[in-house]
Amino acid sequence: MRAILALAAALGLAVPAAGEEGGVCERELVVLGAGQDAGAPQIGNADDAGERLLPSSLALIDRGSNKRYLFDASPAITEQLALLDGNEPPTESLGIDGIFLTHAHIGHYLGLAWLGREAAGAKGVPVYALPRMAQFLRTNGPWSQLVELGNIEVRLLANGGITPLDLGRLRVLPYAVPHRDEYSETAGFMVFAGKTAFHYVPDIDSWAQFTRGDRSALFELVETGRYVFIDATFWDDNELPGRDMSEIPHPRVRATMDMLQHLPADQRAKVRFIHYNHTNPIRDPASAEAREVEARGFGIARRGDRFCLD
Ligand SMILES: [Zn+2]
Ligand SMILES: [Zn+2]
Repeated sequence: MRAILALAAALGLAVPAAGEEGGVCERELVVLGAGQDAGAPQIGNADDAGERLLPSSLALIDRGSNKRYLFDASPAITEQLALLDGNEPPTESLGIDGIFLTHAHIGHYLGLAWLGREAAGAKGVPVYALPRMAQFLRTNGPWSQLVELGNIEVRLLANGGITPLDLGRLRVLPYAVPHRDEYSETAGFMVFAGKTAFHYVPDIDSWAQFTRGDRSALFELVETGRYVFIDATFWDDNELPGRDMSEIPHPRVRATMDMLQHLPADQRAKVRFIHYNHTNPIRDPASAEAREVEARGFGIARRGDRFCLD
């Protein structure tokens, strides 16, 4: 984490406060989904009348280069891409210029399947991944078929290394985060766009493991991003009745807010909680918990939200 911060400083990044944008937006983020992997209603819960959730995913539009990038490829990719097309029609065919994958859990990469011959039959969509994730795709069906048929081109990312896109208009910095890593490691992303940056960390086991006990690393993560999308899987330890949640990872939204509450209001306002489970009450914008998040100066990502990065 320290290396990331040093790099941000070396790049001379000014991080303006949120909400200063105006006029035409050259680089824009769109929230395509803010739910946990399984979305909501979950399978077998057709009577769940709560807010519908699609799995966590972001799109980054760069109008200066006519490019569109996805962060995570969820199983709801068809609907999510349609949402993106409504905001920013593609200039050619699918209009996906790259997909950055956090890890190999169902909400984050199954959408790649829709690039294959049964669906889009895409040609050479760049898929960026850390080494274990890249190897997993290349060596396991059906993903290996996407590679063999040229539907996707797997491009290797290095933990802590910068990947420039479009002659440096965008720079993507993946960093490994602690998570349940059966098939792949797990990445968080810091993306430098113009003179600003955002973080995307939808899935993490604990902040203490990530920062190795140095809380200031978390504060600096917030300070270095203009928007900071972080894990909101669970609200608190009372959320799953009958289950001992002490064994279940993920920082709780309430605990994360407690850790960040002392930061100035303009810093707290950068936080956008994302990847919430169907049981998390912030799923309902009218819930007392969602109102508590807002009252404490933080934000909740919602599908369709747009953020200008200029
Ligand atoms: Zn997930
Ligand atoms: Zn996961």
